[in-house]
Amino acid sequence: MEQKSEDNSVEKTIFDAIAQGDLDLFKNILAQHKSNVDFFDENGMTALQHAAYKGNKDMVQLLLDRGADVNSGKHEYNYTALHFGALSGNSDVCKLLLDAGAQPTATNSVGRTASQMAAFVGNHHTVATINNFLPRAEVSYYSVPQGQQTEAYLPSFLVDPLHKFVLGVNIHPVRLALNLQHIPGLLENADKISKVLEMLCKKEMTRGSDTNEVMAFKYHYLSYIVREIHNIRDKQKPSSEEKKHDIVEVFAKKLLKPGKDGVSLDLMDTFLKDCVREFPYRECTTFHQMVTSLTSKDPPPALSVINCTINGQRGFVDAIPYCSTCGEEKPAKKCSKCKSVQYCDRECQRLHWFIHKKACNRESSAPATASNAKTNIDAGELSAELKNLMAG
Ligand SMILES: [Zn+2]
Ligand SMILES: [Zn+2]
Repeated sequence: MEQKSEDNSVEKTIFDAIAQGDLDLFKNILAQHKSNVDFFDENGMTALQHAAYKGNKDMVQLLLDRGADVNSGKHEYNYTALHFGALSGNSDVCKLLLDAGAQPTATNSVGRTASQMAAFVGNHHTVATINNFLPRAEVSYYSVPQGQQTEAYLPSFLVDPLHKFVLGVNIHPVRLALNLQHIPGLLENADKISKVLEMLCKKEMTRGSDTNEVMAFKYHYLSYIVREIHNIRDKQKPSSEEKKHDIVEVFAKKLLKPGKDGVSLDLMDTFLKDCVREFPYRECTTFHQMVTSLTSKDPPPALSVINCTINGQRGFVDAIPYCSTCGEEKPAKKCSKCKSVQYCDRECQRLHWFIHKKACNRESSAPATASNAKTNIDAGELSAELKNLMAG
């Protein structure tokens, strides 16, 4: 009996620590709690559900490390930990829960999934994170030789890099190119990567009633981009004398070059429309919806149509600031000279400079607004750096 009340007080302290966001207290008290961590509060909620609702990634991770059951809970409206994570708007928390086996299709008492709840409260990034999730096993399947194969399609060291690449929510082609360059192993093995993506697409389309057309299209789309970058790499090989260009830079320059009106990205649009046209499953609803949208009287940019299809949301057209290079939401930096464009970082600014430099000189002759040195990238400094690069 005494033991019981001691347990209760430890459990209560755990809930308190989560409510207060006190990580140190939480770690200490969790260490004292030796038994199963799937205990409930008076509302039938587990500690994991509370931590998810608070959007506290560290606490969620610690509980999962202690074996917390991601699908446990007795909440009266059947909310799962993933529902709470979705409401918190913390995409990292949702990803941890999904990795631990949370069921994205589980519904609450009013028939809503976690992703629908996230959409309901406007957590669009979280919606996309949940909808774009796939278990690692889907990728690792290709790292094991099948049937008569002596060699697997995918070397095992590429399983995690490819999984990470597929989970990415920002589907802007330049962001994907940057991801390919940043995640080690991918760019060098672009041919294998694009082939496995095509196989994932085919597998997804042959699941019968479980087919996820959107995911199948995403695989096709990623494969198409990877193939294009692989082609750029191939073309570069013979030129031994010529200075080797950064592949991502070549790709970005091709896609970001404005059309005749100086604004619309005609080349990107053509490139992406070709991608949609090459989708091999033309009978499916997803394909029809995209074509209807792209052939309408005043069609939206192909990038918006694709983003809408894959992420189920408005694409790169809102009042939210986007990186001018890669479409990342709410980028951290501004061009220090004109302050009219935003970028993720210096790399994105560098890739955009060939277009932006004219507009920048024009705009910066207008009186500058108050600046924040921390978030600004000095255009003059960058320009000098680029000159050095060229000379070098
Ligand atoms: Zn960017
Ligand atoms: Zn500027």
